[in-house]
Amino acid sequence: MREEVSWDLEVDVVVLGSGGAGLTAAVAAHDFGVKDVVILEKSGMVGGTTAMSGGMLWIPNNQYQIEAGIEESDEDVVAYLDSLAPGALDPETLWAFMQSGPEMIRYFSDKTEVRFHAYADFPDYQPYMPGAKVNGGRSLDNEAFSFEKLGKWATRVNPTKMAYPVRGSLKEAVDGALDEATLAEREKHDYRGLGQALIGSLLKAVLDRGIPIEFEKRARRLVKKGDRVIGVVSEDADGRDFHVRARRGVVIATGGFEWNEKLVKAFLRGPLTGPVSVPENEGDGLLMAIDAGAQLGNMQNAFWQQSVLELKPQHRNAKPNYLLGSDERARPGAILVNRAGKRFVNEAANYNAMGKTVLAFDAGTHSYANLPYWLIIDQRYKDKYPTFTSMPGSPVPPYMMRAETLQELAEKAGIDAQGLKATVARFNDMVRKGHDDDFNRGDNTYDNFYMWGDPAFDPPHRTLGVIDQAPYYAVKMESGALGTCGGPKTNGDAQVLDWDGKPIPGLYAAGNAMAAALGEVYGGAGGTLGPGMTFGYIAGRHLGTHVPND
Ligand SMILES: Cc1cc2nc3c(=O)[nH]c(=O)nc-3n(C[C@H](O)[C@H](O)[C@H](O)COP(=O)(O)OP(=O)(O)OC[C@H]3O[C@@H](n4cnc5c(N)ncnc54)[C@H](O)[C@@H]3O)c2cc1C
Repeated sequence: MREEVSWDLEVDVVVLGSGGAGLTAAVAAHDFGVKDVVILEKSGMVGGTTAMSGGMLWIPNNQYQIEAGIEESDEDVVAYLDSLAPGALDPETLWAFMQSGPEMIRYFSDKTEVRFHAYADFPDYQPYMPGAKVNGGRSLDNEAFSFEKLGKWATRVNPTKMAYPVRGSLKEAVDGALDEATLAEREKHDYRGLGQALIGSLLKAVLDRGIPIEFEKRARRLVKKGDRVIGVVSEDADGRDFHVRARRGVVIATGGFEWNEKLVKAFLRGPLTGPVSVPENEGDGLLMAIDAGAQLGNMQNAFWQQSVLELKPQHRNAKPNYLLGSDERARPGAILVNRAGKRFVNEAANYNAMGKTVLAFDAGTHSYANLPYWLIIDQRYKDKYPTFTSMPGSPVPPYMMRAETLQELAEKAGIDAQGLKATVARFNDMVRKGHDDDFNRGDNTYDNFYMWGDPAFDPPHRTLGVIDQAPYYAVKMESGALGTCGGPKTNGDAQVLDWDGKPIPGLYAAGNAMAAALGEVYGGAGGTLGPGMTFGYIAGRHLGTHVPND
């Protein structure tokens, strides 16, 4: 940190990172009265992980939920969230999220081309807990957005990582609601849904306001004068420093630290071997915040996700590519087993909760009991459902093992063969009887939600199906994450706090870069982007309304 700096650029607010949280912060700062805003982005593309994502936002009490007649109460929201992390929530950030989340949705719906609708039947992720919405309402989906409106900027948006075709909203894609003619029309005008729509429309709002994005500017150090953060030093692609003065403040929206091995080892509660986010998320924001004296929070947690290694790095600087594994394990005819060949979880449970089971520690063997673990399916499954990138009828991809018998499959994979055979036999018996006595898979609306399970069957067989048609297949799974969710602790105004609980003047955080507003809780679809963008909005609003120019 330095005090005497020769500035390359002087603005009022600098936003670090162009994901959902960063773009939201930039637009809000501008609209609430900040004159000069600039976004510094480490990569050459806009949108970070958000652009690759499903783009859903979990916002209780949002206007679309209310319009759909799905009632809400603060008591229910608090009861639900508290039941998922009893006594652990920070009341200030929780309340800020509950108050400002619906306001943020209304603001962007009114003032920009960002468009949502309630994915009305998408259940909360633990629908059996108090205050949960058993049949959904709190999760918002994006309307498809035409990238024609972005002109030459259309090519600067990070591509999607979702398996669904992106010409419609997520609901339209899952329901197969678009006919050929509509799809052709959408294709002609380059309509995109999901995270692409979210980032495309946010980017449009940024461009409409004339907010510049500086690419290949990796923020590295904060500049302080006394207690106050007054600017940031970033590094360009050639390693040259670029000094930016921030008269009102800096918003750290650089995503999590999941791609930084040292930080992962230092902080997380267990191994994280398969992040699915953009590889730029290396915890740069966290390191800068630590340097500035920030209090840290929620450091042991991540937004966990089960993943599969698709591609090994092709050259020295390349990063491996991990595929998401949310749908495959929940469909009928799939189970997850550990090296003992045993099931250890309800395979249809939500990914964030499951991630903690994956990290269970066995005191006897003094090892992680469920690492590694495998997805097991049979030929019936393989012929019927997409399995990661492998479509029915297509050749077996390199990340999938195949064998004529369960014995042979277990030997190939390194799983206890007796254990696997006994598990599959027991599972098939339970499926035929119609109840998973071991893990209650299929007992609730989430497990049977038609997006994960097979809607051709009635519950519980939307998720429960036998595994008995040779050959059999195994896919080694990783302890993955959408991103980490620990970082600088903020107050309800998104201001970063020091260890005495006082705001560090001029420093804000939002999205996965901050200590998550809801801690380790993942309420429903959109559990990262809902709170993350809300805090981007809060940061921008506070900078515009409470922080005078220097
Ligand atoms: C396939 C997929 C589907 C998902 N679906 C959903 C969903 O539907 N709903 C949901 O809530 N979550 C979902 N997630 C998770 C969600 O995408 C992320 O949690 C969210 O996008 C994080 O937003 P962010 O703005 O904090 O970070 P990001 O979107 O990752 O943006 C961070 C940005 O900061 C940049 N950056 C990093 N370091 C620096 C630096 N030093 N200087 C400048 N810039 C820097 C990065 O390049 C990146 O552009 C999904 C994730 C994936 C992969």
